[in-house]
Amino acid sequence: MKQVVYFTNNSYMRYMMESTNPKQNLIGLNVPELQEALLSLNVPKYRVQQLYHWIYYHGVRDFGAMANLPKDLREALTAGFSLDRPTIKIPQVSLDGTQKWLLSLSDGNEVETVHIPEKTRGTLCVSSQVGCALSCKFCHTGTQTLVRNLTVAEIVGQFMVARDVFGEWPAPAGNRHVSNVVMMGMGEPLYNYDNVKKALTLIMDPQGLDLAPRRITLSTSGVVPHIVQCGNDLGVSLAISLHAVTNELRNVLVPINRKYPIDELLTACKNYPGTNKSNRVTFEYVMLKGINDSPAEARELIRLLKNIPSKINLIPFNPWPNAPFECSSSETIGVFSAILEKAGYASPVRRPRGQDIFAACGQLKSLSQRLRKSNEKSGTLIQKN
Ligand code: SF4
Repeated sequence: MKQVVYFTNNSYMRYMMESTNPKQNLIGLNVPELQEALLSLNVPKYRVQQLYHWIYYHGVRDFGAMANLPKDLREALTAGFSLDRPTIKIPQVSLDGTQKWLLSLSDGNEVETVHIPEKTRGTLCVSSQVGCALSCKFCHTGTQTLVRNLTVAEIVGQFMVARDVFGEWPAPAGNRHVSNVVMMGMGEPLYNYDNVKKALTLIMDPQGLDLAPRRITLSTSGVVPHIVQCGNDLGVSLAISLHAVTNELRNVLVPINRKYPIDELLTACKNYPGTNKSNRVTFEYVMLKGINDSPAEARELIRLLKNIPSKINLIPFNPWPNAPFECSSSETIGVFSAILEKAGYASPVRRPRGQDIFAACGQLKSLSQRLRKSNEKSGTLIQKN
């Protein structure tokens, strides 16, 4: 690599040195971190801010295209730095338009990111870890052991990949494909809180990627100590993977409940900053036949959520190979939903999206892992060329 550039008297003097170090990736860095990374180039702060704007507002991937930077600086950046996002290894498109991308990371690990289109907007479901440590029983990701946390660059990189795919640089003002983000992909975001916080801060920065906090939802299985902190730090919407109304059942379905039982979890939700009637906590409740779907459980749910401005998303269970559950019948889901609605809770039944490509809620698992473990035939996948 060519590196080390000094800035003196408004001109850059480059000292080209041979080195075996790989280029440093600038994706995932904020302005002070960029300044630090470019220390050896002695770049003035206003130039760093221009660079930041090119990276996150314009999504430019080539330093050479950063027109208002001096030529010498562009050359020095090209020589020593990169703007790498995860690469799409396998893109899949569902019959309903949902897209799932198997993303390859620089160390060879893989994660999945899902884009769910609506008429005038689209939601990006972002992963926070490779695999997951929490083993929720209804979730396919939970059968894949935790490999590692994603870096800030890999989290924010998923968002940038989506904008690349749809050509949304800079983000259009009106309707757009990437209008919302849910941290609901692979992994427990609050177990990788520092990186998730930094990545979301970049995504929300009006000078850069500029997605409003109200368009972002962080979903947790219930890592109680970080819930209120997350609200204070980020102000994003909160979703809770609840799925059961007794500790006995939740201990089985969502094993983190043994550490942070339902009453502690709901206290954290009550105290979640900014929660009110127009900004409610979303409770996710997967409908499992004969397990958690009785009218008595619907009534208990109402009792539990009494003092929390809430909305309840009922999620028909999305099957995956060898899953130990079946989905409740639509009649049972209808009865459950009607009880909640009658008590004044919005309780939409989530329409499954991307089931045919295993992109629906709870179905994510790195494709290579799935193929290895279930002998699934690749011919059943719908691949976009
Ligand atoms: S539901 Fe979330 S926290 Fe639970 S196993 Fe799946 S990815 Fe992990």
